[in-house]
Amino acid sequence: MRLSRMNRSISGKVVLITGAGSGMGRAVAHLFADEGAHVAVTDLLEDRVNDVVAEIVNVGKSAHGWVMDVTDAKAINYVVNAVGKKYAGLDMVINNAGINMLVPLNSPGYEKYWEKAVDVLLTAYMRVIRAALPYLQKSKCPRIVNISSTEGLGATKYNSAYSVAKHGVIGLTRALAVELGAENITVNCIAPGAINTPMTSQISESDKKVFAKRRIVLGRYGEPEDIAHAVLNFCLPSAQYITGTVLPVDGGWMIKNA
Ligand code: NAP
Repeated sequence: MRLSRMNRSISGKVVLITGAGSGMGRAVAHLFADEGAHVAVTDLLEDRVNDVVAEIVNVGKSAHGWVMDVTDAKAINYVVNAVGKKYAGLDMVINNAGINMLVPLNSPGYEKYWEKAVDVLLTAYMRVIRAALPYLQKSKCPRIVNISSTEGLGATKYNSAYSVAKHGVIGLTRALAVELGAENITVNCIAPGAINTPMTSQISESDKKVFAKRRIVLGRYGEPEDIAHAVLNFCLPSAQYITGTVLPVDGGWMIKNA
């Protein structure tokens, strides 16, 4: 017996993912392709884009790749429109591309890091959404998911530039959820905690274990797939009434203060 009439399938939907050549973006690309979506894989490096597209296409799923530097406004407009043309529409945008940086406030060149953090992690998110907006407005299931961080909810030392940008992603999510709600475009945000991706690969396994044991309720680093499934949940047609939310996917890190 069918329990609900609400649709939990993204089959046939078109999704654009930034930073899809690595880590969480790659996991999102695989999961969405497995669920039957057409996946626009975008990232900085052509080889990585091609690898992810090949991984997906080789198992009979649908993906196409574009090199897109999210700090290049022209490239964003070009690629978003190319995706829209190829698939005659675009339903979902996953803003995920990111960089990591630890830089003390008084270090020389701090302002350069600040500019880079804001460019890659915040301005780019706004630009991708603006370029995609005409397509989302025509979609029957328009979804925007922005990847912030637990650094958008709190802060760690020497991480101010990154933290500011990630707080900004939460602000952008809320503001656009309010602005776009009348058009049924949902805008949500995920705040990943400590996740095993190339971004955290320089941290030794033993340091990760000690940290996870002390700070993370579930006692382990997360995997990219943990994030991908949270992204998928926001994108289901049945998630139509969820907007403006910030979901920590952090194994309970943020709630463990003692
Ligand atoms: P990742 O494996 O390094 O993936 C990030 C991808 O974004 C990389 O392929 C990277 O390319 C790409 N990228 C960087 N700058 C770009 C640009 N200008 N244009 C287009 N693509 C660009 O890292 P991840 O851990 O999956 O990170 C995904 C998101 O999660 C990021 O927004 C990150 O800030 C956030 N996050 C990560 C963690 C964590 O613990 N891993 C925790 C909280 C939030 P390159 O490798 O060539 O730079």
